[in-house]
Amino acid sequence: KSFFNNVPLAPPDPIFHLTASYEKDTTPKRINLGVGAYRDDMGQPWVLPVVRKARQLLLEDPALTHEYLPIAGLPALRDASIRLILGKDSPAIREKRTIAIQTISGTGANTLGAAFLAQFHPVRTVLVSNPTWVNHKGIFGNAGFDVKEYTYFDSKTLGLDLEGMLSSLNSAPEGSVIILHACAHNPTGVDPTQEQWIKIADVMEAKGHFPLFDCAYQGFASGDLDKDAWAVRYFVHDRKLECFIAQSYAKNFGLYGERCGALTVVTQTSDLADRCLSQLSKIARVNYSNPPAFGARIVSRVLNDPELYTTWTNDLRTMSGRIIQMRTLLREHLIKLGTPGNWDHITRQIGMFSFTGLKPAQVSLLQSKYHIYMTSNGRVSMAGLNTNNVEYMAKAVDDVVR
Ligand code: PMP
Repeated sequence: KSFFNNVPLAPPDPIFHLTASYEKDTTPKRINLGVGAYRDDMGQPWVLPVVRKARQLLLEDPALTHEYLPIAGLPALRDASIRLILGKDSPAIREKRTIAIQTISGTGANTLGAAFLAQFHPVRTVLVSNPTWVNHKGIFGNAGFDVKEYTYFDSKTLGLDLEGMLSSLNSAPEGSVIILHACAHNPTGVDPTQEQWIKIADVMEAKGHFPLFDCAYQGFASGDLDKDAWAVRYFVHDRKLECFIAQSYAKNFGLYGERCGALTVVTQTSDLADRCLSQLSKIARVNYSNPPAFGARIVSRVLNDPELYTTWTNDLRTMSGRIIQMRTLLREHLIKLGTPGNWDHITRQIGMFSFTGLKPAQVSLLQSKYHIYMTSNGRVSMAGLNTNNVEYMAKAVDDVVR
């Protein structure tokens, strides 16, 4: 008799499961709009030119070894991560009240943040947007938090329900942890405007809530690294709020599988920042000892070299520009076809994803009849579209909504 008899079968992850179904589909016109990974106009994974360059330089370096990194990760990457999100002239950096620890990509930044907060934050409640990246609930639930939702998406306007959001934040227990998407909200593609962020900050401050910015798309959303960091910098510099920022280099460097990211912490004093780093390092040590080196070396090289940095900003504009172009083309085709409904939200939304408003039955028909794969909530990864398939996609949508 095996003790494993007590182990129930866990359900498959919906997104990875969707990709598996897509892989099994042999129809040439199949489209994968599930996974949030960038594809070029040929539908292929794209290695950023700047990553090729940095990788080459690393491989040519005779001093490159495969030694362990320090527990907190590569120092040059950690410092550069702080500058990237807060800006190089950040007063918080000058005042030395911010630290960063390298993490296992954005997921690891969230997990490490959650583990730290579970240990030291006095309030056990975390609020995530409705809807949010599926992993937020799992990560904070596993860390022992009571996970609640704040109103976010308005299914009537397919935009932000600001009043609903402010009222959820207002009625949450004082000092709750609030997960905010720094830019390119996943899964909706709906971001608050600057005026709306100011109102959000007002409530956050009045209620003493703790912000954790999940920042998985800096530079990937608008193509402008500073613009995509606006909300975080507003909270830190204009409002002097403490916060966590979970940074991922998966999307903006196309380094998905290298698992490179950072958790940046902004506190009131430099002493508090050092204490946080020591505790985060302690958690990292027992969980994975030290983070992976290769992706970190690539990112660090680019962030610390002015010439490579400029190349990177061009690559970011290539990716964000292609995605914005796909939004425009999809909307134009739908309008040309006279597809019932209003499709303005497709170009109003930003980042990797669009919440189309398609219903589960329509999504299911798109899959069975047209071999187009997307999550049942109607979320489309815009990166899966290209000039060869966008018209096919529009025609398929036109058919299923009629
Ligand atoms: N947060 C959000 C909101 C995301 O969309 C993602 C990527 N899907 C992540 C975090 C983390 O991804 P990764 O661990 O690959 O960096």
